[in-house]
Amino acid sequence: MTIHQNLIAGEWVGSDATRNINPSNTGDVVGEYARGSIEDTKAAIAAAKAAFPSWSRSGILERHAILRKTADEIVARKDELGRLLSREEGKTLAEGIGETVRAGQIFDFFAGECLRLAGEVLASVRPNIGVEITREPVGVIGIITPWNFPIAIPAWKIAPALCYGNTVVFKPAELVPGCSWAIVDILVRAGLPKGVLNLVMGKGSVVGQTMLDSPDVHAITFTGSTGTGKRVASASVEHNRKYQLEMGGKNPFVVLDDADLTGAVEAAVNSAFFSTGQRCTASSRVIVTEGIHDRFVAAVGERLKGVVVDDALKAGTHIGPVVDETQLKQDTDYIEIGQKEGAKLAFGGELLKRDTPGFYLQPALFTEATNDMRISREEIFGPVAAVIRVKDYEEALAIANDTSFGLSSGIATTSLKHATHFKRNAEAGMVMVNLPTAGVDFHVPFGGRKGSSHGSREQGKYANEFYTTVKTAYTLA
Ligand code: NDP
Repeated sequence: MTIHQNLIAGEWVGSDATRNINPSNTGDVVGEYARGSIEDTKAAIAAAKAAFPSWSRSGILERHAILRKTADEIVARKDELGRLLSREEGKTLAEGIGETVRAGQIFDFFAGECLRLAGEVLASVRPNIGVEITREPVGVIGIITPWNFPIAIPAWKIAPALCYGNTVVFKPAELVPGCSWAIVDILVRAGLPKGVLNLVMGKGSVVGQTMLDSPDVHAITFTGSTGTGKRVASASVEHNRKYQLEMGGKNPFVVLDDADLTGAVEAAVNSAFFSTGQRCTASSRVIVTEGIHDRFVAAVGERLKGVVVDDALKAGTHIGPVVDETQLKQDTDYIEIGQKEGAKLAFGGELLKRDTPGFYLQPALFTEATNDMRISREEIFGPVAAVIRVKDYEEALAIANDTSFGLSSGIATTSLKHATHFKRNAEAGMVMVNLPTAGVDFHVPFGGRKGSSHGSREQGKYANEFYTTVKTAYTLA
């Protein structure tokens, strides 16, 4: 098997490799990918630093053309890359292809943004002086990504970093290097100069940590667990660098008595279980008022009976496997914890056998849960959700906000009054009305509050807050 190498200073290097396994079929090796060392990472950072002066002054048309070409190739290869994604992460093929198209759309969006970066010109408060406010690139950006969106998250960090003239050292999650390698390969062939984008695959404790420890990484954008996020934060404070964190969620989905039952069930099932519940915007707390509670729970149970958990690549599969053994153990541990805490396992939760050996788990629905249980407070990151029964809207809102996280928050209601109140009072970065808590657009801000996020928003034009730094220039006329 050929080793997919790291890209450092424009050269493909590295012979020490790890294997990437298909969670739908653990006998299927997706590929071999280089495992970077501390030295590789330092070389990549040095290359990015050396490339910065020239790339930061490159023409916006050059950047536009490279990002545009990348977008086109990603979309043209959506079936192949979507399949690779499903093989390495375990999302269904439809989800894999959808995420690949999304990555293409993101590169396309930032290709346009290259041509739209604006500043401001103001009069000074002093006579005969003009003031210009401009945005400049930050420098070397360290990009650290998780395994759950193997192509979209790298895209929404790499595209704006390059668009605004930064150079990059990129470390994808070791579990899913395939799509990352593919987009770096596409960007290089699209014409990116040497050293502008460096790929160092390998372990977080080695490659990621070396990035955190380097004074030559000027900003770090990270998506992943709260624990690693805190390490990124403390190392960044130490180096006085900019950092942006997207971490966990314990997103609530509120269902009120007046909700459209079918729509509410569909949104709740999608929020909690699609993509195997491995989305930071997934809803794992379903907060239901008592007038609709029993009907809602029965309907979710019925809906789940029709959900097919199987090989991600098989036609007809609705939910693929859990990403790996460690995550599967975390999910089953929480299913046990929930039962011990006194919640009722109303549906699923058992390991499933399929034609191929994989990490298959029947979606688990708890009822009779309370908001102080660990299953309601800690991020599980699997197809496990708990229904919490409440008296009325006011109690639902209070429970929805009673969490250390604040990424996404949803409500199912036909009441304009409650929908409007919820939009204003949900303590979350994103609010969904009659929609799943997961599922976002690429041209608008993405991010949360409280323990879910730190720093400025990702995506859309708001991304320029992180990937640029502001300069104020005064000129005597
Ligand atoms: P991690 O936070 O460990 O991984 C995220 C990224 O950080 C990976 O690229 C990882 O590398 C890297 N990393 C790990 N250690 C360090 C370090 N010391 N310095 C710098 N980078 C490092 O999350 P996991 O992937 O292990 O997932 C664990 C849990 O995190 C999940 O069960 C879930 O609860 C949560 N999670 C949340 C996500 C979200 O979007 N909110 C996304 C993914 C996970 P590598 O993996 O290669 O070692």
